[in-house]
Amino acid sequence: MSKKGLLIVVSGPAGSGKGTVNAKLIERDEFVYSVSATTRAPRPGEVDGVNYYYITHDEFERRITLGDMLEYTSYCGNYYGTPKTEAERVLKSGKNLILEIEVDGAMQVKKKYPDALLIMLLPPSYKVQEERLRGRGTETEEKIRERLEQTKNEVVKAPEYDYIVYNYDGESEKCAEDILAIVRAEQLASARNPKAAINYFAN
Ligand code: 5GP
Repeated sequence: MSKKGLLIVVSGPAGSGKGTVNAKLIERDEFVYSVSATTRAPRPGEVDGVNYYYITHDEFERRITLGDMLEYTSYCGNYYGTPKTEAERVLKSGKNLILEIEVDGAMQVKKKYPDALLIMLLPPSYKVQEERLRGRGTETEEKIRERLEQTKNEVVKAPEYDYIVYNYDGESEKCAEDILAIVRAEQLASARNPKAAINYFAN
């Protein structure tokens, strides 16, 4: 019996640690990370095709026109989007696809794919988030302020998500385990297995 993978959206404000947590999940063979396209410049250490596909503004708009973005948004002055063809290929293969995207894109996914699983990852508090961002030291004060400001628009959308998971300091392993537990439960949900009885007698 071939089964489609789960489409999993993980959103969280800057400093929520979603990159670290998702990296732990994709160590498992059942998860694949969706590499987004973006028009923002790579940060030090980021690799094209691994962290993002770094493309120009014109190329991004061309792909929108071609319908090759499963969702996309403009965030802090840059385009970000999920390449559709690749996403569909992964889901068909039966693997779970993780989309690490912001709230606007998440709401588009929720509308287009009602069976997507939406998870919001949060730092323990706004105060801790601010400390994390300043401690990271990779961004200018202006960028940090911009990201903190953006947080307000993001966290208010928490009720639209299926689950809220907290990432406490030094506990990203536990956080990944929480997400794994959610995924396990969702895979077994009766609503996601409408043919359970038929299959039971047929096999
Ligand atoms: P960053 O510039 O810090 O890598 O990402 C900024 C924000 O854009 C983050 O919240 C990140 O999750 C989000 N993001 C990354 N890729 C995508 C995407 O493909 N679509 C959308 N909607 N958001 C994305």
